[in-house]
Amino acid sequence: MTKKIAVLPGDGIGPEVVAEAVKVLERLRRDFGLKIEMETALVGGTAYEAHKHPLPEATLKLAKQSDAVLLGAVGGTQWDTLPRELRPEKALLGLRAELKLFANLRPAILYPQLASASTLKPEVVAGLDLLIVRELTGDIYFGEPRGVRTLANGERQGFNTMAYAEHEVERVTRVAFEAARKRRKKLCSVDKANVLETSGLWREVVIRVARDYPDVELSHMHVDNAAMQLVRAPKQFDVIVTGNIFGDILSDEASMLTGSIGMLPSASLDAANKGMYEPIHGSAPDIAGKGIANPLATILSAAMMLRYTLSEPSLADSIERAVSKVLDRGLRTGDIHTDGMRKVGTAEMGNAVVAALEK
Ligand code: NAD
Repeated sequence: MTKKIAVLPGDGIGPEVVAEAVKVLERLRRDFGLKIEMETALVGGTAYEAHKHPLPEATLKLAKQSDAVLLGAVGGTQWDTLPRELRPEKALLGLRAELKLFANLRPAILYPQLASASTLKPEVVAGLDLLIVRELTGDIYFGEPRGVRTLANGERQGFNTMAYAEHEVERVTRVAFEAARKRRKKLCSVDKANVLETSGLWREVVIRVARDYPDVELSHMHVDNAAMQLVRAPKQFDVIVTGNIFGDILSDEASMLTGSIGMLPSASLDAANKGMYEPIHGSAPDIAGKGIANPLATILSAAMMLRYTLSEPSLADSIERAVSKVLDRGLRTGDIHTDGMRKVGTAEMGNAVVAALEK
C-alpha cells in the first residue's frame, strides 16, 4: 500500500536540507520500489507569513492524514518578537501534541570517519552508536499545578510538578524495548529513584514491562551518574530510556559527543508508530540561503522514517550505507570539514548520497 508522507520544510536551512532528503526518497521510489507519495505544506515562520499562524489548519490536517511527517526546522530572529503562541517553535509543540507523539528517539552515532569532530578523545567515541528514547508529553514540563505564587512573607515562589502515570511510563518503555530488540539488546533506564517518588514508580513500571522482553538486558542508572558515564564511557550504552526532562538534557549531551549537529536525526512516534522525523538542529539562520548546510541529519531522518514507520529496514540500511560511503570518499560540508577532505555544498552532498544508494 502506498504510504503518505507530509513534507514540511519550514524555515531557514529547513527547505535546503529537506530538498536533499526528498531527492533520496524520490530515488528510492523510482528505482527501489518504495511505495510513497509526498505532499508539501508550510510550517513555522513561513506559514505565519502566509497564513498568520505557524501551524495552519491545512498543514495540521495533512500531517494527521499522513503516515509520517518529514520536517526541516522552524524559527528565525524576525519572528522572535511575536506573541509566544504565534512563534514558529509553537508549531512543533502543536504537531507533537496533536499527533500524540510521546516517544522521542534520538540516536547519537559517530561515524568513524568523523571521530576527530568530537571534543572527546577519538578512542572514547569512535564508532559510538547509542539511542536515547525520551518521553515527550509528560513529566515536569506538563505537570499541574504549576505557576508562580506569593508566599505568606510576600516572597514569590516558582513551582512545577513532576508527574508520571503508569500508562505513560509503560508505553514509552515498550518503544524502548522494541528498539533495543532491533539493536544490541541492551536497555538502560535512567531515573532519580533515590530521591524522587515519580522515579520510584517509573522504575517499578519499567521492571514490570521488562518481563515481556526477556531477550533484552535491562539496567538502571541514576541520572547524575548517567550524565557522567555519557562522557566517561559512552560506548557502554545501547538504548537509554528516560523521562522528559532527564531526556532533554541527556540527549543534548549525547548529541554533542559526536561533535556534529548537522549529522543527527530524530524521530517522534505515537502508539501506532506513526512518526515525525526531523534533524535535531534548528533553522541555522546564520548560514541559511548559502547552500552550505549539512543535509545528512535530514537524510538520516528519512532513513529512520523508513525503519520505524514505513517498515522498510533494508532501504533504511541502504541510506545509512550510502551516507557512510560518501564520508569514506572524503566529502564534507563545512560543519564537519577537516584538512585533506573535499568541501562540498548542500546539493552536492545530497546528490552524492543519491548516487551512492545501492540495494
Ligand atoms: P541551530 O541548530 O539552528 O544552529 C546552531 C549552530 O549550528 C549554528 O551555527 C548553525 O549554523 C549550525 N548548524 C545547525 N544545523 C546545521 C547544519 N545542518 N549544517 C551546518 N551547520 C549547522 O540552533 P540555534 O542557532 O540555537 O537556533 C536557530 C533557530 O532555530 C532559532 O529560531 C531556534 O528557535 C530554532 N530551532 C528550531 C529547532 C527545530 O525546528 N526543531 C530546533 C532548535 C532550534
